[in-house]
Amino acid sequence: MNVRLFEQQDISQTPRPISVLGLPVHLMDDYVGWLVSRLQQKLGTQVVTLNAEMTMQADHNPALARIIAQADLVVPDGSGIVFYCWLQGIRLQRSPGIELAESLLCRCAQLDQPGSVFFYGGAPGVVDQVVREWQQRAPGLRIAGCQHGYLAAADQAEFKQTLKSLQPSIILVGLGVPRQEYWITENRSLCPNSIWIGVGGSLDIWAGTKSRAPAWLRNHHMEWVYRLYKEPWRWRRMLALPQFAWRALLYRLTQRGSVIQ
Ligand code: UDP
Repeated sequence: MNVRLFEQQDISQTPRPISVLGLPVHLMDDYVGWLVSRLQQKLGTQVVTLNAEMTMQADHNPALARIIAQADLVVPDGSGIVFYCWLQGIRLQRSPGIELAESLLCRCAQLDQPGSVFFYGGAPGVVDQVVREWQQRAPGLRIAGCQHGYLAAADQAEFKQTLKSLQPSIILVGLGVPRQEYWITENRSLCPNSIWIGVGGSLDIWAGTKSRAPAWLRNHHMEWVYRLYKEPWRWRRMLALPQFAWRALLYRLTQRGSVIQ
């Protein structure tokens, strides 16, 4: 189907996938509203926040590509995805994973029956700071619990049992890509009614151990510059960005974007 036809359709209610180098990205007006309604209906949901780096990882990692393809919601986290869509004639707004998770937690705290959240990931100490931060930010939010991301293999079974007994409404997993995506896929059956989101380094930011790029850099699609400045060891991983841009341009020249049916 032609992308332009797709643009005329109503994308406000249901997530409709478009293809970004063969991976889905869902378009809709209100991701958070949709997630809240899934939460209220107890419809288990796996959310992937896709950026260029992850797209390039999936390009040579079929297991990761499969997980992204099967996720219930894939949001355009990075500027690269927005750029790709722009080349295809689709205008969309970035939906950074950290902002999506923040909005969801804030909305969740205001519900008549507030949902509960579990934080998993980050260095020991970081996740406890995240809990304190969210207790202040959204006092109505029920925090079911937290667990740092460096648990010994021997303690995993007990942790999973705890998660199973808690059945939180939202489970935020910050183990980095693709570890968090693998972990969620393997374990989402423990809490089949929960919203599971891989949040990468968001826990470090909420804990205050890392900072986001200033808004003016974010607004000019330059968040990667800040990341490289703060964490120069990332340079090899970040070579994925020019690779992605090149692939996007090549794709534009050779094919037309399509809606995944
Ligand atoms: N992490 C973790 N357990 C691990 C490896 C990493 O909890 O075994 C955490 C790490 O402390 C950090 C996050 O995963 O908080 C990865 O953050 P990063 O910004 O690298 O995420 P990505 O760029 O992959 O989304």
